[in-house]
Amino acid sequence: MNVAAVRPAVIAKTPADQRVVPNLRDAERRSFSWPAMRAELDGLPGGGINIAWETVERHARGARRERVALRWLGRTGGRRDITYAELSRASNRFANALRGLGIGKGDRVFVLSERVPELYFTALGTLKNGSVLSPLFSAFGPEPIRTRLTLGDAKVLVTTEGLYRKKVASIAAGVPTLQHVVLIGTGQGTGAIEGTLGFDALLAGAGEEFEIERTVEEDPALLHFTSGTTGTPKGALHVHGAALMHYMTGKYALDLHAEDVFWCTADPGWVTGTSYGIIAPLLHGVTSIIDEADFDAQRWYEILATQAVSVWYTAPTAIRMLMKAGVELARARRYPALRFIASVGEPLNPEAVWWGQEAFGMPIHDNWWQTETGGIMIANTPDMDIKPGSMGRPLPGVQACIVHRDAAGGIAVVDESNVEGELALKAGWPSMFRGYLHQEERYRKCFLGDLYLTGDLAKRDRDGYYWFVGRADDVIKSAGHLIGPFEVESALMEHPAVAEAGVIGKPDPVSGETVKAFVSLHAGHEPSEELKLTLLGFARKRLGAAVAPKEIDFLATLPRTRSGKIMRRLLKARELGLPEGDTSTLEASA
Ligand code: ATP
Ligand code: MG
Repeated sequence: MNVAAVRPAVIAKTPADQRVVPNLRDAERRSFSWPAMRAELDGLPGGGINIAWETVERHARGARRERVALRWLGRTGGRRDITYAELSRASNRFANALRGLGIGKGDRVFVLSERVPELYFTALGTLKNGSVLSPLFSAFGPEPIRTRLTLGDAKVLVTTEGLYRKKVASIAAGVPTLQHVVLIGTGQGTGAIEGTLGFDALLAGAGEEFEIERTVEEDPALLHFTSGTTGTPKGALHVHGAALMHYMTGKYALDLHAEDVFWCTADPGWVTGTSYGIIAPLLHGVTSIIDEADFDAQRWYEILATQAVSVWYTAPTAIRMLMKAGVELARARRYPALRFIASVGEPLNPEAVWWGQEAFGMPIHDNWWQTETGGIMIANTPDMDIKPGSMGRPLPGVQACIVHRDAAGGIAVVDESNVEGELALKAGWPSMFRGYLHQEERYRKCFLGDLYLTGDLAKRDRDGYYWFVGRADDVIKSAGHLIGPFEVESALMEHPAVAEAGVIGKPDPVSGETVKAFVSLHAGHEPSEELKLTLLGFARKRLGAAVAPKEIDFLATLPRTRSGKIMRRLLKARELGLPEGDTSTLEASA
């Protein structure tokens, strides 16, 4: 008998599951108001709001000044604790350096770096200066870097000497707006490479006091590029007022309490690594773990255990890799401090939610958002019973609905439960993007009336839980059925041999499209015709003949974005022999 078949549909929470009282309970949901939440932030002395004030200065000037803000773990060992007071001084220095270079409000400062402390000083100093921060993932190649710097009118690029030599030197001259390149890791000397500045030298010559630029809610703060899962990445602009959303979601979706040690595993090159790898934990004055190294199952368990991580925010791709490494590895250690695990970025298969229970004695809490939303919108929070496979319920202050588009270009809100449609959000939450860079028309098209249309398909059940169906682009139309790849992938993943699955629609003259699955296997399982037949049968039993895949191929790994999302459009293009399109965010090994 398959174990999954007897699992209950709901993981009920009991008070014993909640070692600290959750920040969000029914009472807070009922009484929520944005003005009340805003009152928990300071605002700049004299008016306005600046993310760097709320994240750093207010703690550096208060009781938390000697608390560790960032605990940095070096790739090859070693650790550096940076207190709120230190973070304030270092980011002030960087802000002064920018000002000294003539870089001001609204100017774009890009950072391309591994996760080293200087990256965080740059980010916060840039915000203090009122300049716009755009973090790029350090694994990008020269061309994706050039495109983004050019699109974003970069004036300053902060990078490391190694990355500069490998990736930037060849393209820097092709970015017309670029005025300064600042290199981390060149020590006190300047001019390690002609035409560049040294980060340390620049900061050594800059003062420790800085008066934050008087920014207001609508002033631009961040420029994030989307993951490129469905096409060419878009540049989404965010404002300083977004801090309110980061604060609210840090409090309610991640349940941050003052004494927490928090670890967000995302790189700041993706929106999660900035909103939750930098901003939200600092807003709450907690200690945030930064690991310089890349994914490694053994290392990650060690960090969770030895750093006493209490709240952990990660992604389905990482969880699937941990699952691949075997639950025994997780269980070889103990995690007495750990009390809450959340995940974002892709649908979290029920199998992964349950695995959390097996590995850590607690389920993994899925939540949903996008680069465009700037912060978590729909979430499983600590007080909620979990329905594995559901992304949870809208957070307070967030209004979601399911809509259908009609042929005339209008939309109708679907009132019934369990009906699939496009997920839409009532526009106006604080961290809503304020534009796609240089794509005004595309931005406008995301809104209809007072709704923002997400491009994701979902349904809502009777209890108000939302269920992800698929991206509008990925949904398969087969013999009159609409099939979401997530459902098919999750069913395949219930089979013990399957580590990952990616499902596409393949054009078919009879049914419109047929369902084709690509799977990678757990260690110890080999591709074979026999296993293929077993999996086809397994899926048919769970999903029915209309929805189950007709074809299965084995792949060693599935093509993924560097932020860890399965790129179904690439599976499809490869299957059909079509051009691959923009692959700037494709993970190198795929
Ligand atoms: P692009 O817009 O360039 O194609 P992208 O949409 O992957 O890339 P992101 O903004 O990083 O870029 O990702 C947001 C998307 O990720 C969501 O629209 C959704 O499709 C998916 N996603 C995020 N979290 C979840 C989740 N919990 N469940 C299901 N899907 C999720
Ligand atoms: Mg998107």
